[in-house]
Amino acid sequence: MSEDKRIHVLMVSMSLQGHINPMFKFAKHLLSKGVHVTIATTEDGRDGMLKNTKPSNLTKSTNINNSHNSNNDSGIDLVFFSDGLDLDFDRSDTESLVNTIRENGPKNLSTLITDLTKVHNYSCVIVNPFVPWAIDVVVEHGIPCALLWIQACAAYSIYYRYLKNINPFPNMDDLDEKVHLPGLPPFEVRDSPSFILPSTPYHFRTVIRELFQAMDKVSWVIGTSCYEIEEEIVNSMASLTPIYPVGPLVSPFLLGEKERSDVSVDMWIPEDSCIEWLETMPDSSVIYVSFGSLLSLSQKQVGNIAMALKNSNKAFLWVIKPCKGESNNVAELPVEFLEETKVRGLVVKWCPQEKVLMHPSVACFVTHCGWNSTLETLVTGVPVIAWPFWSDQATNAMLMEKVFRNGVRVKYGEDGIVETEEIERCIKDVTEGPRAEELKKRAMKMKELARKTLQEDGTSNKNINKFITELIVGNPARA
Ligand code: UDP
Repeated sequence: MSEDKRIHVLMVSMSLQGHINPMFKFAKHLLSKGVHVTIATTEDGRDGMLKNTKPSNLTKSTNINNSHNSNNDSGIDLVFFSDGLDLDFDRSDTESLVNTIRENGPKNLSTLITDLTKVHNYSCVIVNPFVPWAIDVVVEHGIPCALLWIQACAAYSIYYRYLKNINPFPNMDDLDEKVHLPGLPPFEVRDSPSFILPSTPYHFRTVIRELFQAMDKVSWVIGTSCYEIEEEIVNSMASLTPIYPVGPLVSPFLLGEKERSDVSVDMWIPEDSCIEWLETMPDSSVIYVSFGSLLSLSQKQVGNIAMALKNSNKAFLWVIKPCKGESNNVAELPVEFLEETKVRGLVVKWCPQEKVLMHPSVACFVTHCGWNSTLETLVTGVPVIAWPFWSDQATNAMLMEKVFRNGVRVKYGEDGIVETEEIERCIKDVTEGPRAEELKKRAMKMKELARKTLQEDGTSNKNINKFITELIVGNPARA
């Protein structure tokens, strides 16, 4: 056992961009308050993370191997465990991934924890919602467990109330039915997180069901959101299993701190040249388009976006990420589109999104409404065109449309495709006329609210301090 007297915390996540990044950002907050953090993640992300992440975020003080050597006293240790699949397995086969990790993850993580605890005493293991099986492993090792909820508090509330039968829900097969819950405006079934919808594949529904079954073994629920933007929802959960927001978990420079470097782990190399390109564009002139790290759009949908961007006559920056798995081939852009728009458009494979959203040239964000992207757009005051696909994205789109009121939302056609004219309508609404002004005003209001919360006397900062105190003295609410 080492002589290191700091509090030690272990975090567990799959190595997906949208999962590992909020864990990493929370780790940095804990680190800045003197807590030592080790992040355990799946081996399949190891090469991408080590190759594409800025050295300042990992190598300076990070022990990037499985040796558990903790002489390192200033950084985050990163350790890896196997999800049970070969490294070159196509993980877009989500059913195999979910089932294999559920079977193999517990013993592999348990072996890792056994090794890690030979070096440090861990005060807590923080898991995220997508490794629910890890909760039992942690409890079996006799370590208190916390959940870092990496989606909106609203999604937490909906899942909780549905899966624990707290409130009546309508027939979830009928997407038009209305749901009425405390702290939220009435919303349609289609705006529920899709992992509770009967139409969602069983393996996804199982992940979230198992999480909420294990919730009683979790000592803290911490959220990546912040109280100021989800006040009523957070309050509505206070008498159930409360959630303590510690966000917005974004890079500090987005919150006004001078340090310009991002705090993120990248699975692909960000093309920094797009920032230089943004420098050449007028203020509030560029439409930024990105659908996150997991989605791949159909050829028809990509064609419709290209046509709408062309017809808009506006500048645009469009991220079309490379695909990891064979089953997800990247849709091709029409050659004439690239030629015709080359003076006002830039297409990249991956960008430093936080820096892009901070840039004054960006006018709006066409987003799939992943929660990280949602937080990033809120703290930068960029209005959105919300274009949700699955998981919590429809809930986030509903929040942006009805609660935050910082964006418009695309309407899908009957074939599940958004037509060119509809995309054009949304672009117009967000960039021109009185509606655009109203949305920008709301976006700036949200920015103002979200920025206060991590300051010294801000609610998130207080929640982080409370969490650390409870790590030392124990959580009285769960004792
Ligand atoms: N991101 C990025 N560059 C890109 C596109 C996305 O750095 O070109 C980051 C983005 O800033 C966010 C994360 O990838 O932090 C995506 O997470 P989100 O929850 O929005 O969506 P997911 O990828 O999980 O669907």
